[in-house]
Amino acid sequence: MAKASPVRESVTSINVDGSRNFLRPADVSGKFSLWRRISGIALILFYVLMPWIPINGYPALFFDVANRRFHFFGYTLAAQDMWMAFFFITGLGFTLFLVTALFGRLWCGWACPQTVFMEHVYRRIERLLEGDALSQRKLDKVSWADPVKILRRGTKYVFFAIVSVLITNVFLAYFVSVPQLWGYILDGPLEHWDSFLFVVVSTLLLFFNFTWFREQLCIFICPYGRLQSALIDDDTLVIGYDDKRGEPRGPPKREGVGDCIGCNRCVQVCPTGIDIRQGLQIECIGCANCIDACNTVMDKLGRERGLIRYDSLNGLAGKARKIIRPRLFAYLALLALGAGVMTFAASHLKPGSVSLVRMPGSPYVVDQNDVRNQFLIRLINKRNAPVAYTLTIESSAPGVSFAGFDQAVELAPMEEVQRPLVLMQQRADYKGESTVTLHFKGEPGEFEVTKQVNFLGPDPRLISP
Ligand code: SF4
Ligand code: SF4
Repeated sequence: MAKASPVRESVTSINVDGSRNFLRPADVSGKFSLWRRISGIALILFYVLMPWIPINGYPALFFDVANRRFHFFGYTLAAQDMWMAFFFITGLGFTLFLVTALFGRLWCGWACPQTVFMEHVYRRIERLLEGDALSQRKLDKVSWADPVKILRRGTKYVFFAIVSVLITNVFLAYFVSVPQLWGYILDGPLEHWDSFLFVVVSTLLLFFNFTWFREQLCIFICPYGRLQSALIDDDTLVIGYDDKRGEPRGPPKREGVGDCIGCNRCVQVCPTGIDIRQGLQIECIGCANCIDACNTVMDKLGRERGLIRYDSLNGLAGKARKIIRPRLFAYLALLALGAGVMTFAASHLKPGSVSLVRMPGSPYVVDQNDVRNQFLIRLINKRNAPVAYTLTIESSAPGVSFAGFDQAVELAPMEEVQRPLVLMQQRADYKGESTVTLHFKGEPGEFEVTKQVNFLGPDPRLISP
């Protein structure tokens, strides 16, 4: 049983008996649709091109999970530096808080990949092959035995599947790089069954989402929509209906009615099926379709645009608008704090790392001439250029020398090696346990690290001549 019209207290895309009411939003044109189309295409190009554009020898965005390296526009983070992701993610969170407090669900309507791909790719294909909303609804009612339905809807599904495969492959390229992805494709699925499985499952999920689930993802799954009610206030820019101007509704020529003629065009174009005239609702993703639809109606009637418009709830109620509010300062302060810590941390990141662990087993060995301690050095070059590492003893007890790192160790960009190191002290010089300070230097660059280790051995009286 379909709903007669949207009701604020329930979700339009679900019928009262719990079945799905599949929405067929009408196409719309206007200023906001045009800018959304332009920004949507720009975003799709951005998503698709990032794994292709090289910066400092790596794709602009490359999350190289296999080698635990993460490349962001020429800046490389090793897995050891990923604690910085905490500041990055919280920074993004506070940015979203700030943007939401100022502009409502601008992200949802204009930049979220779900909206961008739905409106500018899948919905475009659907309208091209099945016609406008009316034709789509007619096709819904036709039996699958009809060859026209098989041809039209079947072709649409084929295109949807192709687009889903392409999106999944672009997504995978962010993690394995384009050349490697191309290698996987040439090798065939059995050679890289795990990546193939990822592509199959992701493609099926995308296909399901964009073919059937659609606006349900925004309404029932995405947490951001739920958060919005806590983030916005009466001065946030939202899309709303000016009921003082629009009510009471009535035909254009009737005396004493408002500007809304009750044409329902704003409802027909809404991708989540709501009636914005009933007030701000959680389902509204801020796509601005209803603004363009209503402006077109107002233009035809020769009335002022903006019966539905971007405004604050205070503005729509005729009260004073206030942009600067205390909560903005709170979000800004948190954002500035996070950004400051992240910038400081990024500028102090070391271009390499050295760790030293004692070899398992006996902590020392005593032979005819020496007391020996054995260590394992783990060296990581975090730079995108080769670095030669050298080791010297900065301070130690007399007679301490080392073996195992006597030549410079050259590491390729982003390479990681483990090398044994033996610290030795002649028995004659050994006067008990001591501290050895080791100095590592990387060339070229300013990488210098000192490490202190305890030189262990027996009671000197036990080995004195
Ligand atoms: S499009 Fe404008 S005039 Fe038509 S019903 Fe919606 S608000 Fe009223
Ligand atoms: S109410 Fe308007 S802005 Fe909100 S989702 Fe519907 S068409 Fe888009």
